[in-house]
Amino acid sequence: MKLKNRRPLISIFGCVIPMLLVAAFVFNGCTALEEARQRREKRLLEERNASSLMLKTPKSEIDPDNITEDALFGESDHYTIKFAEDLLQLPAFDEVAERKEFILSALGYMESLYDAMHEHFGFHPEHKIHVTLHDAYRGSRLGAFTTTQYRSGIQNGRYVKFIGGIQMDFPMQMYEKHGVRAHELTHAFTNIYYIPVWFSEGIAVLIQSEYAQGGLHSKFDSLKADVQIDINGENELENWVGHTENSPLTQWRYRYAYTLVAELWERYGNDFYIKVFELMEADGLHQQLESLMPTSILVYYFSQVAGEDLVPFFRKLHFIKVRRLTKSDIVKYIETLNAQIQRRRE
Ligand SMILES: [Zn+2]
Repeated sequence: MKLKNRRPLISIFGCVIPMLLVAAFVFNGCTALEEARQRREKRLLEERNASSLMLKTPKSEIDPDNITEDALFGESDHYTIKFAEDLLQLPAFDEVAERKEFILSALGYMESLYDAMHEHFGFHPEHKIHVTLHDAYRGSRLGAFTTTQYRSGIQNGRYVKFIGGIQMDFPMQMYEKHGVRAHELTHAFTNIYYIPVWFSEGIAVLIQSEYAQGGLHSKFDSLKADVQIDINGENELENWVGHTENSPLTQWRYRYAYTLVAELWERYGNDFYIKVFELMEADGLHQQLESLMPTSILVYYFSQVAGEDLVPFFRKLHFIKVRRLTKSDIVKYIETLNAQIQRRRE
């Protein structure tokens, strides 16, 4: 029986495959046109109605005069945007008018994200964020990269670094996904603070989910019930090394980080994180750290702003390394780091 059934199937495939090939060829042509049309419509819609992305119309106007004649480069108050050469071979970007339209819409979107980041976290970086769009970057269409450009040196006997700019490299395929775009751009704001991975990812997912409607990660119902701990009894968030990992825990980590960041925000109010970053900036921490700050330091700032000790809250969530610090503990920590850096440089 089985054998009988197989034969007709094979002969059906024999006919179907050439037909499919022809059909696919024709459809491809239509699909490309259709996609170009959809892309244009989507861009127009974004321009007209930025609120469809839950982002407001940007405060600053995008000046078309700040786009070069060949429309390979454009600039706004807080961003520059550039097309890499490999993109120009794509039908969607081989004409000046297409690129110009894209740049206007992209700068508008990014400026509105700037406003949101300023409103909710108080960020107002003095440097610009430089975005380069590629067809493929480092051989991949799936990875976006953020690089912090800074110079460092010894000033008044201390190691200090000065941020010159942020460079972001996006494969277009990634940039066109709202969620990914908002997530990665958020990192461009937080990277300079050297905050722990879980906190920077939590902020990025929060912005991605609540402001860009690109959320792939939903909040957990309960920080307590949905916690995951490792064999040492440590919260699996505390030991997160970041983006590049791909483990069965990754999804949980994004969701849990988002839940935790949102929880503190709801509990202590809209200006909670604004004040946290203000305090960190006032102490110049971001200029003196060479690597990510320990969660205990972050919790010190959280507690200062919350007006209560948050160490027990984190300990209950199995952040077993978090301990109560005083300002002088932090100063001592920075001094030790500084001495190490200077010894290395001698
Ligand atoms: Zn991220």
